[in-house]
Amino acid sequence: MENRDTILDVTSLKKYFPIKTSFLRRVVGYVKAVDDVSMYVRQGETLGLVGESGCGKTTLGRCVLRAIEPTSGGVVYHLDDNQVDILDISREDLRALRPHMQMIFQDPYSSLDPRMTVLDVIGEPLKVAGVKHQEVVARVEELMGLVGLDPRYMRRYPHAFSGGQRQRIAVARALAPNPQFIVCDEPVSALDVSVRSQILNLLLELQERFGFSYLFISHDLSVVHHISHRVGVMYVGKIVETAPVSDLFAHPLHPYTEALLSAIPRPDPRIKRNQIILAGEIANPARPPSGCYLHPRCLYAQDVCSESAPPWEEVEPDHFVSCHFARELSLQGVVM
Ligand code: SF4
Repeated sequence: MENRDTILDVTSLKKYFPIKTSFLRRVVGYVKAVDDVSMYVRQGETLGLVGESGCGKTTLGRCVLRAIEPTSGGVVYHLDDNQVDILDISREDLRALRPHMQMIFQDPYSSLDPRMTVLDVIGEPLKVAGVKHQEVVARVEELMGLVGLDPRYMRRYPHAFSGGQRQRIAVARALAPNPQFIVCDEPVSALDVSVRSQILNLLLELQERFGFSYLFISHDLSVVHHISHRVGVMYVGKIVETAPVSDLFAHPLHPYTEALLSAIPRPDPRIKRNQIILAGEIANPARPPSGCYLHPRCLYAQDVCSESAPPWEEVEPDHFVSCHFARELSLQGVVM
């Protein structure tokens, strides 16, 4: 791959979950949750990842942290001056790298242990790293200030905080070990609409200040548009298109992206837009269709689409797509 100043390069990543019979536990098939994904995240950028629920976004996010073990592929991090494929290293070496790669979860109500004070929640990664108590307290104080929480409340328990404040605690915990790369897994979808933009703006401010790289997973295209530099679109375990955010929204090259964009609610319902309704159901990742996985639902499908899988190609600079007709179709985008 050419040098794109990346922090993360993912190559042909697969995560197949075996389907076993209930009696002899024989493997009779696989759920292809992540199916031959290649992508990259640049230093200091946010790659938004969108797709319907069940398309494999969260599994992909966990695989790139090796929080679950991928089936095959490569996940290379460029950390400081080192380049390391985290699928090729021992558990012990992976533990040493963990501080550089963190995750923020969707639900701040279940991701924080209710029996731990905020000091313990945020300070835990530091204690595990052997940092002295006084230094942990000082760092937690600093982190709470950074995420907009009053450090005087560090000895309170999570239940004393609102949903938005709890997500700020979760962000502070992720920042504690000084990471370079953070997977944000639907970090605002469990929050009230009124506090979503506060958390998104906090993530943007922190990125600007510290240069973090984010993989930002969401099913909400408006949120992804607000926070991302580039966007990847997933369908049944595969990324079908990635592009800089403005290109992808204004000028999609994949029919599935076009259909997702056409479903974004309009602020003014009097302005009509032609919504594209894809026929049938999302494909079953245990028995995906032949060729292009979208072909039974795609408005533009031709014979070749069911016969062979489209290649993953850079059709325009930094705009990758997997569709036999990406160069010929003229698809409709949206202005946000
Ligand atoms: Fe549609 Fe064919 Fe393109 Fe797949 S390859 S998205 S079926 S036109």
